[in-house]
Amino acid sequence: MRDGDGWVECDCGNRHWGKHGAAGLLLIRDQHLLLQHRAPWVHNGDTWGVPGGARDSHETIIEAAVREAVEETGIDATLVKPLTTFSDLHGNWRYDTVLATAAIGLEPHNLNDESHEVRWVNWQEVTQLDLHPSFAKTWPQIETLVIQLVN
Ligand SMILES: [Zn+2]
Repeated sequence: MRDGDGWVECDCGNRHWGKHGAAGLLLIRDQHLLLQHRAPWVHNGDTWGVPGGARDSHETIIEAAVREAVEETGIDATLVKPLTTFSDLHGNWRYDTVLATAAIGLEPHNLNDESHEVRWVNWQEVTQLDLHPSFAKTWPQIETLVIQLVN
């Protein structure tokens, strides 16, 4: 049952999508991250971030992140190995980014209409992209985790 879709008036003053919070999947392979160029019509569209979306009440964070990434990019979930999670806590809302390694053979295909493009980006070149504002804000903390995982 999908019960996560809906807006939340957040303690931080913004409105966020996901009644039970949201989760995204940051896939890592070699020195590269799989980033998603979101379609212009979605909230904060035409920016780069990670595939993700609303979490359902019965899902774990990892389940939600992987499900959303499969829906949006067509990846094979069996090739995903979750390692750690970065939690952006807002009070009555949260966004969890699951950092995971992608095995050889994991490739995006069958993008849904929320994804303009997905691309493997060297982690050192992430800030050269026009990032989703929330991803940009948390990137310095996520980058610290990425550096530990790629080295
Ligand atoms: Zn908030």
